[in-house]
Amino acid sequence: MCKTQILQQHARRILAQSNRSCLFRSYGTVSAAAQNLPSRIVTDSNQNAHITPVLESWQKQVHQVKPSDLRGLIKNLRDSNQFSKALEASKWMGEQKVFDIVPEDYSARLHLVENLLGLEEAEKFFKSIPKNMRDYSVYATLLSSYTKSEDRLDKAEATFEKMRELGFLLKPSPFNSMISLYGQLQKLDMVEKLVREMQETKVECDSPTVNNILRVYADTCKIKAMETFKTFVDEQGIKLEGGTIVAMAKAYLRSGSIEKAIEMYGNVEGSEKEVYRLWDEYKKETKVNDNGYRTVLSSLLKLDDIQGAEKVYEEWKPEGPKLDMSIPSLLLSRYYAEGMEMKIDQMVKSIRKKRYEMHFKKIKERLILRRVIVGMGLKVEQMAKETIRRSEMGTTLLLPIIDLSSPEKISTAQLIRQACLEHGFFYVKNHGISEELVERVFKESKGFFNLPLEEKMALLRRDLLGYTPLYAEKLDPSLSSIGDSKESFYFGSLEGVLAQRYPNQWPSEGILPSWRQTMECYYKNVLSVGRKLLGLIALALDLEEDFFEKVGALNDPTAVVRLLRYPGEVISSDVETYGASAHSDYGMVTLLLTDGVPGLQVCRDKSKHPHIWEDVPAIKGAFIVNIGDMMERWANGLFRSTLHRVMPVGKERYSVVFFLDPNPDCNVKCLESCCSETCPPRFPPILAGDYIKERIDHLADERNKAEFDVEEMKIVWAGSRHAFEVSDRIARLVASDPVFEKSNRARLSRKELFKSTLRKCAHAFKRIIELRLNEEEAGKLRHFIDQPAYVDLHWGMFVPAIKGQGTEEQQKKWLSLASKMQIIGCYAQTELGHGSNVQGLETTATFDPKTDEFVIHTPTQTASKWWPGGLGKVSTHAVVYARLITNGKDYGIHGFIVQLRSLEDHSPLPNITVGDIGTKMGNGAYNSMDNGFLMFDHVRIPRDQMLMRLSKVTREGKYVPSDVPKQLVYGTMVYVRQAIVADASIALSRAVCIATRYSAVRRQFGAHNGGIETQVIDYKTQQNRLFPLLASAYAFRFVGEWLKWLYTDVTERLAASDFATLPEAHACTAGLKSLTTTATADAIEECRKLCGGHGYLWCSGLPELFAVYVPACTYEGDNVVLQLQVARFLMKTVAQLGSGKVPVGTTAYMGRAAHLLQCRSGVQKAEDWLNPDAVLEAFEARALRMAVTCAKNLSKFENQEQGFQELLADLVEAAIAHCQLIVVSKFIAKLEQDIGGKGVKKQLNNLCYIYALYLLHKHLGDFLSTNSITPKQASLANDQLRSLYSQVRPNAVALVDAFNYTDHYLNSVLGRYDGNVYPKLFEEAWKDPLNDSVVPDGYHEYLRPVLKQQLRTARL
Ligand SMILES: Cc1cc2nc3c(=O)[nH]c(=O)nc-3n(C[C@H](O)[C@H](O)[C@H](O)COP(=O)(O)OP(=O)(O)OC[C@H]3O[C@@H](n4cnc5c(N)ncnc54)[C@H](O)[C@@H]3O)c2cc1C
Repeated sequence: MCKTQILQQHARRILAQSNRSCLFRSYGTVSAAAQNLPSRIVTDSNQNAHITPVLESWQKQVHQVKPSDLRGLIKNLRDSNQFSKALEASKWMGEQKVFDIVPEDYSARLHLVENLLGLEEAEKFFKSIPKNMRDYSVYATLLSSYTKSEDRLDKAEATFEKMRELGFLLKPSPFNSMISLYGQLQKLDMVEKLVREMQETKVECDSPTVNNILRVYADTCKIKAMETFKTFVDEQGIKLEGGTIVAMAKAYLRSGSIEKAIEMYGNVEGSEKEVYRLWDEYKKETKVNDNGYRTVLSSLLKLDDIQGAEKVYEEWKPEGPKLDMSIPSLLLSRYYAEGMEMKIDQMVKSIRKKRYEMHFKKIKERLILRRVIVGMGLKVEQMAKETIRRSEMGTTLLLPIIDLSSPEKISTAQLIRQACLEHGFFYVKNHGISEELVERVFKESKGFFNLPLEEKMALLRRDLLGYTPLYAEKLDPSLSSIGDSKESFYFGSLEGVLAQRYPNQWPSEGILPSWRQTMECYYKNVLSVGRKLLGLIALALDLEEDFFEKVGALNDPTAVVRLLRYPGEVISSDVETYGASAHSDYGMVTLLLTDGVPGLQVCRDKSKHPHIWEDVPAIKGAFIVNIGDMMERWANGLFRSTLHRVMPVGKERYSVVFFLDPNPDCNVKCLESCCSETCPPRFPPILAGDYIKERIDHLADERNKAEFDVEEMKIVWAGSRHAFEVSDRIARLVASDPVFEKSNRARLSRKELFKSTLRKCAHAFKRIIELRLNEEEAGKLRHFIDQPAYVDLHWGMFVPAIKGQGTEEQQKKWLSLASKMQIIGCYAQTELGHGSNVQGLETTATFDPKTDEFVIHTPTQTASKWWPGGLGKVSTHAVVYARLITNGKDYGIHGFIVQLRSLEDHSPLPNITVGDIGTKMGNGAYNSMDNGFLMFDHVRIPRDQMLMRLSKVTREGKYVPSDVPKQLVYGTMVYVRQAIVADASIALSRAVCIATRYSAVRRQFGAHNGGIETQVIDYKTQQNRLFPLLASAYAFRFVGEWLKWLYTDVTERLAASDFATLPEAHACTAGLKSLTTTATADAIEECRKLCGGHGYLWCSGLPELFAVYVPACTYEGDNVVLQLQVARFLMKTVAQLGSGKVPVGTTAYMGRAAHLLQCRSGVQKAEDWLNPDAVLEAFEARALRMAVTCAKNLSKFENQEQGFQELLADLVEAAIAHCQLIVVSKFIAKLEQDIGGKGVKKQLNNLCYIYALYLLHKHLGDFLSTNSITPKQASLANDQLRSLYSQVRPNAVALVDAFNYTDHYLNSVLGRYDGNVYPKLFEEAWKDPLNDSVVPDGYHEYLRPVLKQQLRTARL
């Protein structure tokens, strides 16, 4: 039976049962047959066959062919090069008169006519097109016909002109056609003119444009223009076509640069031969140097020719006094990326060999090598990293030296220009600052850094000026180190507006008497050197010498001196800790003096990976000068702001840096002398102050306010140092992998989104294998990818179900397949008709003793499985829950492993109908998951695919419960639910992290006399809404931690057949799942509101988080249904109170019923609410009294079940009170543990009581009506709550930093770590497809007719 027949049969059966035969008619065979006609046309290999009869029969069968289907057919025919059939269909369409012909139809036909019948016919056809139908697409087709040949230039130009006149030059395509034609004719001036026009009219270059232009430059061998334009292309991230790269390579060859040609061929797939050919040629013609090797190796590696690269590497005879480690590094980093450990080992040996060959005896490097080879106990992965890093200890860079005293200004400016173009770095000597002053500055600087820490901390950096302690700053935020190993002191302007706005802090004269005077003297001197230098830099940029004065840059400039001390030792050798990690400077120029200790390195090409670092030694008495980002912006990238860093060299190092940056109000705008038509401005104009703000940490002030050790809090949050380290490492791994990018998720169609899920899962699995991640690490990796996927169900439900319910034999068979993902499984329990009520499931599994098989069947439509994640499109297998029937008796719900799809071609197996249930709430969100439906039509499976750990069916069909206790199932349930509670704390903390950071960045109202406005986090209402959620995040974290312990406890007890605590553990996990997920879902929405309007943007991260999270309130048990289970358990416990049965675990407090029913809270003042006993007693009294009241009310009913139904709402409230007590008590218990780290416990204490008192305030009605507290005590609790908010306020940002979420994981513009919210919101807005064009698609059809009042004649 074919698949369609099966489907039809199945549908018939289900529809017959549901008595809706009318539906069946529309599912009939007619439309299916009709659907087949067009596909027959496309697949018919006879090119000459006439298709009109087929089209007519199609028309008859379906009565009215849809225009969209017909257009689809024509497109398919065109795409498969069946032009004559396509033209016939297109003509037929025109002749039918029943279709609404649109301009696109004409343009398609025009294209076909030109292709098949030639240009003359096409021109005739064009003329026959009604004028109002000649839109952009028609003209663009005509133009592309003309631009195919050089002799039609006149017509092409006339058509192009006509398009300009009609306002049709809004897209790149017509420009591309003309550029390509002009290119063939070598009319370079015309090409440049068109590029200019595109820029002026804001038509963005697309890939064909840039490829065309580059080809024109390459063909005409305009190397310089080609390179300049290529820089622009690289910036735009536009991909070059193979043909373009080859043309460029050829241009290089023609101009004699074989090396560059080799480099280019590295980017063209399949060019290995050409690379070898050129390499041989190169070797014949030139004396091969390290550069040549570097080029050919990186090209071969790009072409994935690792073996070839290894051979070339073998040939390499290093030159120079030092082994250039960047060459082996190329191979090393590839081995590292591919996880080729043996090769890494061999490479390390080969480096040693090369070194010996060179008789290289430098002790330091030998030591490094030995360390690497012996391994010092490091893992291979770390070894490789270390090798690469050490190898980056580069060769020495010889920088030009500028003599500032030279009277030859023009030639000095020339030298500076050259230095800025090539390096962005140079030396300046003879600057006029005396050696004696410099010595004094260093001496005073040492004096300051030698002060006791308390003295230095008293001058802690405020408003950018003052002291920053060791590791307080990390210039490269992507590193995992705790911070850069340096301490520093900043001072700035001595006079002017900036000096008033940012006053300097000076060490006390009593301690360092001549300090301030020396520093002020140096400041004045170095500022005047900076001004002089900027005059020369202006000349170097072809500007007037006083250009920077005129544009206001030097009018009260932002000029800051920074004194630095790098200690000799770093705290740990196995994490990447730098003196100053890789960065570029923000401003105009930086002037550096050092004490001669090396360490400074520069990387001249930041786009090349791995970075090549070169040492920059100090020259006594000379400044090392470098260009900053703002100068790079002015110079349109011609002058480089070079990446640099300071390596730890095992020796204390001092330096003095002077940053000369423009006045904050100066507009930094691309210089005319640095841009041209083909090299347009790369950066938009920006005020210097705004740029600096963009680059710095907007939340630094908030972080400085923290009164506790954030690093220690991170460990407490993670649960242990080990957990923190794993989580931190894997989060960064995911964040740095482009495959796991997710910032564009909202813009993907459902299909694209789903495919991206498949890609991410496959890539994750690959990385897990390559990096040999263990179970914990693999779980974290999947978690940080942060995209709901079939793997969640495979690992989270399918595998645990087999583990929990399968026999040992079954586990052996199925888990070995599942663990390697040779099969993918899901958990198919819920049906269309029943979810919460599992006993109501209708799918049957009937044992057939004749064949020793179970027959799995979907008897009704409502019995269809509906919802299981991963079922729709991916799973090959499922654990299916069905009613077991044997010997005519129904034994209730049991699990069965059923194969759903072929392991060969993934098609569903016979008699199985499976698919996706459709799009779910939100953009992106859960739509990455294929939640599915599933129907069985008497599908047979072997008997041994019933999960038989708890009960089995014998060969004869006898149902036999096993001696394994049923309660075992509870163990799995506790496991799954504790994971859900842990997830709640994560989702809640994510939302709170976003809302807290944004509340600190956002300012509204409150500005006085031009001062700054109030941060919204300072409003008490904001605190009152936000801080309880922050406290809840911590509360849920700790209760989750406790649940983890509970799971271990339950497992141990089960193993010892101790079932006494099981019902209590089961009820408590059910209640906590319900409580935490409900609170989290509500909290995410509250956080959205706390972020005002911007919270509603997808890029705030909150809408998607909400959409992904809310189903947690429903899956794994509807939250209300779960609370009712808790309530049943509570009623049972209350009923047994007098019976001598002692309540256990979280219900132990009920054993003190006598006391709790009559006690009165002893709270007399606000601080008493910080007493754990007072808080616990109030919560216990409230929970117990509510439960007892319910029990009393229940006893009034004769029929208990009827009473239960009547009191459902009260029962849920009582259950919630009990669960809240559990969370509060576990938070208090956490505080009794030994928690280290400065101020950490204090913060947790504050949060604990915020959580408890907020609940008390929220449920005041319960507390008052049960007389657990008095109104006066309630008011004292409120006072205490307010005081706690004030204590948390300065720590709020640090408390969310302690979650240690990467920006990738948060995926929120509002929650960015650096708080740089506004420019990034704009960036996101520009990415939206609606902003692809300034005039929207649809303007001509639907907007213009409205605006021009032409609705009557418009074709809508
Ligand atoms: C995103 C998502 C993923 C899922 N993944 C899976 C999966 O992988 N595998 C799987 O098998 N299932 C899955 N499910 C299904 C899920 O487990 C069920 O939807 C869930 O158990 C709730 O059952 P229900 O849909 O029958 O709700 P219902 O029980 O129909 O709930 C409807 C309403 O009735 C109320 N209600 C129901 N019973 C009572 C009662 N006794 N007393 C008072 N009120 C009551 C509920 O509180 C709710 O308000 C998924 C669901 C979602 C949303």
